[in-house]
Amino acid sequence: MSKKSVMVFIESNSRGISDVSLELFSKAKELAGKLGVPVEGIAVGNNHEEKLNVCGHFGCQTVYLVEDKRMAFVTSIPYAKAVASVIKKHQPQIVLFGATTAGRDIAPRVASELRCGLTADCTSLEIGEHTISGKRYTDTLLQIRPAFGGNIIATIASPESRPSMATVREGVMKMDKPDTSRSVKIIRENHIFSDDDFITEVIDVLSEKKSVNLKSAQIVVSAGMGATSPEAFDLVKDLAKTIGAELGASRAAVDSGLLIKDHQVGQTGTTIRPNLYIACGISGQIQHRAGMSESRRIIAINSDPAAPIFEIAHYGIVGKIESIIPKFITAYRARA
Ligand code: FAD
Repeated sequence: MSKKSVMVFIESNSRGISDVSLELFSKAKELAGKLGVPVEGIAVGNNHEEKLNVCGHFGCQTVYLVEDKRMAFVTSIPYAKAVASVIKKHQPQIVLFGATTAGRDIAPRVASELRCGLTADCTSLEIGEHTISGKRYTDTLLQIRPAFGGNIIATIASPESRPSMATVREGVMKMDKPDTSRSVKIIRENHIFSDDDFITEVIDVLSEKKSVNLKSAQIVVSAGMGATSPEAFDLVKDLAKTIGAELGASRAAVDSGLLIKDHQVGQTGTTIRPNLYIACGISGQIQHRAGMSESRRIIAINSDPAAPIFEIAHYGIVGKIESIIPKFITAYRARA
């Protein structure tokens, strides 16, 4: 197939292709459109050819598939070797991985093998130009992510080595609406493994069901350090229950033991874009905003009128949780 594509490492689970891969295809389609190149995918595993058709609905034209019955579960060495060999053969200019357990394991191994750049946990990806020592590179992947504890937003480029590689967390890129009229071509790659590649055998994978599902919630009510008193926290929980919302939290609230980590929204928690996000007693530091600023509507309740959350809130209410939330609940119940 043609060279210099934008390629996505495809992950799957028992339900099908992982959301993060479909989100990455949506982004890859945008980047490839700017570069005028195709979108491709790499899938490694066993028995999952049928699942791959959905990749076409998200703009992928070709999937290179490496199948081996010993690779039903992700194992670092054979997966990384298979991915590196497909990249060497087809020479994409950009490769995107999910910042998942598998992606974070495989991408650095591949980058090391190919001697190319890799930026972890990007929050944005763009095509632009970059100059190093007077030399100007055009059509380069600009990998944007918070750095130094979120105090700066860094733009990272590695135009002198190809491919440019990046990992992106689930929920960061917006998933396009699928176009079911589009199909994908699947090409089987004949990668030869040696027995030494399989020094680890995964016998089974046991998954624990999540008690919190922030990602698919349409409404999220989040508690911050301003909601840590028993009265305020009960009110936040009441509000969430009344309007059918999932409960989120700032990292500080999680660290204080208010809620478990599964509730955390932000750079090191979950990235969400619900229809409505209500931030209760959350100051709105950049690391929190990184996980919720794309929400369709944001309401902030905070007693400090200078709290940064008000810079991104569509509706800001200056006041204490203890006095505002009861009014909210009463008004909602009166209309329901
Ligand atoms: P605070 O900043 O203490 O804010 C509390 C707010 O509550 C204040 O604005 C106050 O005015 C208001 N308030 C107080 N009492 C009331 C009341 N009665 N009624 C109404 N308002 C009241 N943070 C995240 O959230 N998610 C992350 O994923 C994340 N990742 C991070 C990663 C790194 C590398 C680092 C360095 C930090 C990260 N943080 C993250 C932490 C982040 O920088 C902030 O410390 C944190 O978001 C603050 O949480 P908060 O807003 O609840 O608390």
